[in-house]
Amino acid sequence: VAKPDPILKAHGVRRSFGGLTAVDVEHLEVQRGTITALIGPNGAGKSTLFNLLTGFDRVDAGEWSFEGRRLNGLGGHRVARSGMVRTFQLTKALTRLTVLDNMLLAAQGQLGERVWGAFLRSGWRGQERANIERAEQLLERFKLLDKRHEMAGNLSGGQRKLLEMARSLMVDPSMVMLDEPMAGVNPALVQSLLGHITALRDDGMTVLFVEHDMDVIMGISDWIVVLAQGQVIAEGRPEDIRADQRVVDAYLGA
Ligand code: ADP
Ligand code: MG
Repeated sequence: VAKPDPILKAHGVRRSFGGLTAVDVEHLEVQRGTITALIGPNGAGKSTLFNLLTGFDRVDAGEWSFEGRRLNGLGGHRVARSGMVRTFQLTKALTRLTVLDNMLLAAQGQLGERVWGAFLRSGWRGQERANIERAEQLLERFKLLDKRHEMAGNLSGGQRKLLEMARSLMVDPSMVMLDEPMAGVNPALVQSLLGHITALRDDGMTVLFVEHDMDVIMGISDWIVVLAQGQVIAEGRPEDIRADQRVVDAYLGA
């Protein structure tokens, strides 16, 4: 058994919306170099937890650190620059930009914020050659290079997911958080997406992902964390989680 080596540690992270406690995580660790799955029924607080940890929503309480550095209170693009990124769905505004421009915008870690503000502030088209080269290398890796001048909105469902993943890598992160990376993807493409996720880990990255398909989860995860009603109710290796009655109950109760 490898020695624990948490890249991310969180304590007492809480967020309520009105009277509803969406997230109430007493303790969470993600071990470096693993693929960790965050699972749980709809509304369990998975996306909210991603938003909180990556600085795209504000906690009511709690603290967390990444690579030993405190992140609470930092905004989304500063968190991204520290090396922890989450993917964002291709929003309507982003579908009207080319694939390459999506990548260049992501280089600033700004996708979850006011896209057009970032656009105006940075004059990204004049951005140095290095960003374009990095974007093209990533697009090549995700088999999107020949689409670079297409509007992102013209991509297929699977290609959008690949672009979402590729964009997140523009800031050269050490950890990526993928929220339902396979959602709405043609089953024929699922294997290819899974291959990309395991390749990230094999390159030394840490991956935290949200997914519903149990076969997918069991197939690629090193560790599984189960969230229900905002709380971590179980965690462990895939074989232990599969046999855990609390997990079965949480899913059946969804
Ligand atoms: P999951 O991703 O696990 O399906 P979410 O994190 O999206 O769950 O949501 C957790 C709970 O918080 C849900 O009950 C949801 O309705 C609520 N919630 C999430 N975001 C907001 C928001 N911005 N305003 C109000 N309620 C929210
Ligand atoms: Mg969600």
